[in-house]
Amino acid sequence: MPGALPDGEPVPPDGALPRSASERLGGRPFGCYVHVPFCATRCGYCDFNTYTAAELGGGSRDSYPGLVIAEIRLARRVLGGADLPVSSVFFGGGTPTLLPPSQLGAILRAIDGEFGLTRDAEVGEIFDGKVTRIMSIGAFVEYLPGKEGLVRVSEISNERVNRIEDVVKVGDPVKVKIAEVDRQGRVNLSIRAVTEENGNSYEERQRAERARYQDREGGGDRGGFRRGPGGGGGGFRPRSGPPRG
Ligand code: SF4
Repeated sequence: MPGALPDGEPVPPDGALPRSASERLGGRPFGCYVHVPFCATRCGYCDFNTYTAAELGGGSRDSYPGLVIAEIRLARRVLGGADLPVSSVFFGGGTPTLLPPSQLGAILRAIDGEFGLTRDAEVGEIFDGKVTRIMSIGAFVEYLPGKEGLVRVSEISNERVNRIEDVVKVGDPVKVKIAEVDRQGRVNLSIRAVTEENGNSYEERQRAERARYQDREGGGDRGGFRRGPGGGGGGFRPRSGPPRG
């Protein structure tokens, strides 16, 4: 007996997304889940949608990556021209996955080809960025499309900086090095470190700055910055990543 359709917006006949879903596209990070429905053995407690070799009834796993890639292309067509770079790809199903690296790579390449994979920065990488905002504690720089990090005042120049705007302005192109990604995923950049040969200089400066802060404040290393008279120096929010407090 056929079950009743659930309440809700019907799927458009052309296979497109319902309007309520398509309206939210692009407003949140976009990820892909790739289900790999193969297991070496069946675990007694599992009712997951996966198959062991015996359960495949002599069928082969080899055609599966091609079907996944066809689904990825279909998803691209259904989602139209929306700019949806993929920020995470999760391979689920049987663990460990039984797809060989070459087939996993082919699926990742298909996702990258259809949607594009977002790039993450690694400490030590150097980028040509652009200054997007200036605040009392430093300058924000977009180092990859949609990704912003902070260059603290002390990391802008080897010379003493009295006013940030005397050194960099919004819109200026700048070369920056990824100096640190903190536990909350916030990216700290350095202009000075780009040309420094000693890879520890940034850490040494940060240690010295924290020590100066402790001396001034009489203890309590919170790695922070003192607020200016108008409350400046805190409460800013980078465009990517959680708020800095
Ligand atoms: S490996 Fe995972 S998916 Fe496969 S049978 Fe065991 S619990 Fe289920």
